[in-house]
Amino acid sequence: MSSHVEQSAVTVLGLGPMGRALAGAFLAAGLRTTVWNRTPGRERELAERGALSAGSPQEAVAAGPLSVVCVVNYDAAEAILRRPEVAGALAGRTVVNLSADTPARARELADWAAGRGIRYLDGAIMTPVATIGTPAAVFLHSGPEPLYREHRPVLDALGGTHTHLGEEIGRAAAYDIALLDVFWTAMAGYAHALAVAKAEGIGARELAPFAQGIGAILPPLFEQFAASAEEGGYSGEGNPITSAASSMAHIVQASEAHGIDAGVMRAAEGLARRVIGLGHGADGFVRVAEVLGRR
Ligand code: NDP
Repeated sequence: MSSHVEQSAVTVLGLGPMGRALAGAFLAAGLRTTVWNRTPGRERELAERGALSAGSPQEAVAAGPLSVVCVVNYDAAEAILRRPEVAGALAGRTVVNLSADTPARARELADWAAGRGIRYLDGAIMTPVATIGTPAAVFLHSGPEPLYREHRPVLDALGGTHTHLGEEIGRAAAYDIALLDVFWTAMAGYAHALAVAKAEGIGARELAPFAQGIGAILPPLFEQFAASAEEGGYSGEGNPITSAASSMAHIVQASEAHGIDAGVMRAAEGLARRVIGLGHGADGFVRVAEVLGRR
């Protein structure tokens, strides 16, 4: 570890599962780590490992040059940061906000911070708690590049891959929204699949290896789909959207025959039918992205 990192101090505001993992990784890397959480008690284990427990958020942020915020959303982040005594203590210091929310909220908070002389970076964590401090962690960052470079040695203590996506402050949140869109719709599909499979007498563990096989098909499709979307080639050769819509209708029928809510699949089928209705039935499913993007 470089002497710069050894001498660094970092504050973590928010000690939910993720905030605790971040603070734990900073401690493991030997950084002087100050922690604070709205509800007392969550700092106990971290304090036993050497974290300094601050009595207030203003005391916490005053402990060092860099505060990492990780709370449920920006309402929560603002409930902490916008307290006058906290904002005052943060002037001239840096906030790295790793809470999740929308790009618009990131831009608003950055504007507010700029007006108070608070140096502000926004970020998103793309991997679960267990990855923090390991090579599997993925962090996205946006905001002023020199500020990012200045704090990168401390952020590196969190392990994994850090990517600076650009100076536009909303960019990390925009990636986060897009990537979580993929994640949650896939998880909704999987949850629905487990319910329908169970109704057909198939156990979740029985289905899981085959579900993993379906998951494995997706990464190369994401690449192909991206190229098609950018180049404007929507060829449905091999799998036209008319065929996809028919397959989706079977899933809806089977689900509803068991009295299982097929809302997620109905939404997907609805998109396919809309594309067909617009005269693109010979195209592939990628055409949905273009049609949705017409706004
Ligand atoms: P939560 O999203 O449940 O956030 C809990 C934290 O938010 C607690 O510290 C809680 O404080 C605080 N909080 C909530 N409301 C307020 C408020 N009004 N004022 C002050 N603090 C508040 O848990 P996580 O720690 O898991 O997540 C934190 C962030 O990390 C989220 O934005 C999440 O999306 C993101 N993330 C989480 C991942 C995960 O695997 N857990 C993965 C990737 C990103 P209190 O204890 O007082 O309630």
